Amino acid sequence: MPPHTALVAVSKTQPVEVIREAYAAGQRAFGESRPQALRDKAPKLPADIEWHFIGHLQRNKIKLVVGLAHTIHSADSEKLLVELNEEAGRQQCIQRCLLQVRVAQEETKYGFTPAGLCALAATGFFAQLPCLQIAGLMGMATLTNDTEQIRREFRTLKKVYTELKQTYFPTDAAFCELSMGMSNDYAIAVAEGSTIVRIGSAIFEN
Ligand SMILES: *Cc1c(COP(=O)(O)O)cnc(C)c1O
Repeated sequence: MPPHTALVAVSKTQPVEVIREAYAAGQRAFGESRPQALRDKAPKLPADIEWHFIGHLQRNKIKLVVGLAHTIHSADSEKLLVELNEEAGRQQCIQRCLLQVRVAQEETKYGFTPAGLCALAATGFFAQLPCLQIAGLMGMATLTNDTEQIRREFRTLKKVYTELKQTYFPTDAAFCELSMGMSNDYAIAVAEGSTIVRIGSAIFEN
């Protein structure tokens, strides 16, 4: 991995013993996609693990994740952001979040559309979330063998990132992350400017 790219080891299908082995080998950032699994695993593992929440977050599960996750990669709607901000306020913490953008050609993927996200940003919405640190964008490419399609989708994500950064976060050093790339497509993601890759099966299943 190039030095500017961080690795989140996606441990969502792994038991705590396996996570402990990866920790012993030096890995500190792990990704979980279910709130209950995060809540159950985290107390059994070293406290200096950086937990990344990467799955769709239902609003009734927000309490399990806020304050425990170092970064929530999947802030995917206006309503969710409002409620994350409220919960962080109740817990008196600042929750770091990434905005999930839908760039894949798949109906089931969550996230803001690029146009929807830019329109929301233009309303000043992101300046009204004092208990959230908006740290960048996350996205997933279509699950396909067409590498040019994957590349186009990551380029779209990078373009939205750059637009938001320049227009709404120009002096905000915290807005700096582009979370893109999984086992199948991380090499393309890194070439297109990813700062965080989220890799599960390529690490844990061999
Ligand atoms: C499962 C998952 C990953 C890791 O996928 P692999 O193909 O196992 O590397 C990355 N990001 C998200 C959002 C996931 O749900």
